[in-house]
Amino acid sequence: MAEVTGRPGVVPYITAWSAERSVRPEVVGLPGVGLAYRDELPYDRDSNGNLWTRMAFQCGCGRPEFGRVHPGRQRRAMRGLLCQVCGGPADRTAAGVLWLLKDDRGDWPGWPEGLAATHPPACVPCARAADRLCPHLRGGSVAVRVRDFRVRGVYGALYQGAGPSLRSTGSAIAAADDRLARWILAAQMVRVLSDCSFATLDW
Ligand SMILES: [Zn+2]
Repeated sequence: MAEVTGRPGVVPYITAWSAERSVRPEVVGLPGVGLAYRDELPYDRDSNGNLWTRMAFQCGCGRPEFGRVHPGRQRRAMRGLLCQVCGGPADRTAAGVLWLLKDDRGDWPGWPEGLAATHPPACVPCARAADRLCPHLRGGSVAVRVRDFRVRGVYGALYQGAGPSLRSTGSAIAAADDRLARWILAAQMVRVLSDCSFATLDW
């Protein structure tokens, strides 16, 4: 298992590499219980009992696939408040932990209060680099300090049906203790951002 950290501005820590394919064990639906793997192992579930997508850890092997997030590293970074780019500690001051977000200030009054974030936080050097280099952020990012960032639940593929008709019907977010979460094959941990203040990267 290669657990390396990326280099700022090169390949983000949470990005999946081409050698890191999803391992697809057989998923079954247990009526009244939720999803399970037929050959389930203890590490397939988090402490809330949510079932997670299996994916090989081969960070650095093959090509980086920038549109794809590695579930294991996303969860590790989100849980440990690590920088999504370099995998080191995210920046934290009295004003809160640093998140670099796509600037969606028009989405609702008070944005980003209450935002369900699937992107982990960032450190200052990586936030500066990402603001310049990240295609989906370039010119449209905003730095935010967050004081309250509690784990809310999981994001992943929602399954419906039973028996042979069990199938994924799309993506969903659910609170960890919501019954719906039992039917999601988790791919990313979600934190809800509150007590936010806008920051500047011109330090
Ligand atoms: Zn970093």
